[in-house]
Amino acid sequence: MSTMIGHFVGGQALAEQQTGERMSVVNPADGSTLGEVRLDAIEAADQAVQAAADAFESWANTPVGERVQCLFRYKQILEDRFEELAALIVREHGKTMAEARGDVRRGIDCIEYACCAPVLMMGNTLPQIAVSSSFSRTEDEGGVGIDSTSERVPLGVCVGITPFNFPIMVPMWMWPMAVACGNTFVLKPSEKVPLSALREIELTAEAGFPPGVVNVVTGGAPVVNHLITHRDVRAVSFVGSTKVARHIYATACAAGKRAQCMGGAKNYMVIMPDANREAVIDGVLGSAFGTTGQRCLAGSVAAPVGEAADWFVPAIVEAARKIKVARGDDPGAVMGPVIDRASCERVKNYIQIGLEEGAELVLDGRDFQVPQGGNFVGPSIFDHVSPHMRICREEIFGPVLSIVRAASLDDAIASLNSTDYGNMGVIFTQSGYAARKFKTQARAGMIGINVGVPAPMAVFPFAGWKNSFFGDLHANGEDALRFFTEHKILVSRWL
Ligand code: NAD
Repeated sequence: MSTMIGHFVGGQALAEQQTGERMSVVNPADGSTLGEVRLDAIEAADQAVQAAADAFESWANTPVGERVQCLFRYKQILEDRFEELAALIVREHGKTMAEARGDVRRGIDCIEYACCAPVLMMGNTLPQIAVSSSFSRTEDEGGVGIDSTSERVPLGVCVGITPFNFPIMVPMWMWPMAVACGNTFVLKPSEKVPLSALREIELTAEAGFPPGVVNVVTGGAPVVNHLITHRDVRAVSFVGSTKVARHIYATACAAGKRAQCMGGAKNYMVIMPDANREAVIDGVLGSAFGTTGQRCLAGSVAAPVGEAADWFVPAIVEAARKIKVARGDDPGAVMGPVIDRASCERVKNYIQIGLEEGAELVLDGRDFQVPQGGNFVGPSIFDHVSPHMRICREEIFGPVLSIVRAASLDDAIASLNSTDYGNMGVIFTQSGYAARKFKTQARAGMIGINVGVPAPMAVFPFAGWKNSFFGDLHANGEDALRFFTEHKILVSRWL
């Protein structure tokens, strides 16, 4: 019998029964079972929302300066536990230790930004915005002055639903800013990587967050669908695939919730003939194969323009062939496994689809195996891909790079803009003119210029356009503050 993974509710661990619909959490590097999650943990979800609702009033009334003291202490706890958390990510997600450290570090960035809440939450005041004519007895008979002020106030119980690919960081796009603003929070992490998120939230108790302010409930789709329509939930923040993002957005909005839903991606990287070759190979390699291609900012299409293909294609194939694929805790590993068997099969299936569509497979990672088993697939590259092919339009979410040879920059931008997604676009060039044209015309929310993974730091908003995002306010940056608060406008006069 494997261990049941529980929840963290009201400041303490909440155990789960070995009953209902369940799923094993598996180390993708060797197939070993780390525990089991109950997918339909509805009772725990109700308890978590209740704990968050009970904690709300007192937390919202705690001065913001005191609320962020908990975050300052929490940041130090993360620094002290940095290696422990990174090792946990490696164990349940499979990414390399260096990538796992990046996951924790970028999470800490979000904590630091949320510590700015006392400044960010300040409102606006405009005195003497009007004069009341009906009370003209004072102010030298000219009327009573009216002042107006806007304040930012918390919403109530907010819910976060997160994907498997950044087990520590993505939850931190949500709950730190939400609670800094005075909300209380229920996190439902991916059922594939619940252990990192559980540890992340358990540590909030050590930092002195009052019970119920931050809760985590593990589970699957039944728990999500229960939370996003729950009467006591005010806002839903989601990150995951486009299909689910669209469903969550429609359902949560129809239930009267505020929602922001980040979805999937198909990201282009345009390579101009004048680009710095070393920067291109380094940037494209990291973008296409970093985190085994399982990033919403993975560059999965490379579009060399004109003669750039002559040097780019052989160089990227040679560099990708040298990538050391191994389990994430191998100190030499550059690329780890994909998350599960189903992902492994999906990636291999897309490689077959690419072959059937007529693309040229110049690097085949399908037969890659490491001695201890696990869900490994090696770096794979298709050349002579057409923009209409499925391997160029659909998110594969694995280490497969499609090369679309473009005749001109206009041609490359047109291909990029023809995809249904709009998360990111990248250009490598030494020409300011080309870079400016690209950033102006590419229809994507995040743009990189000579940067392969243009992930915004936490002070800037993070999200894409088109089918990569449903909602109005993005994650992080000022958008996060606006998402997790609402305006209250005061109009006052004193007689
Ligand atoms: P996923 O959509 O399968 O799961 C995400 C969450 O939704 C999980 O917590 C899961 O339990 C829940 N869920 C899954 N199916 C559901 C359903 N039918 N009803 C209700 N809830 C459901 O995503 P994933 O495979 O964990 O993550 C990979 C995806 O996330 C990729 O598409 C990637 O591009 C995307 N992603 C996007 C961003 C971004 O900022 N745009 C960031 C990271 C990941």
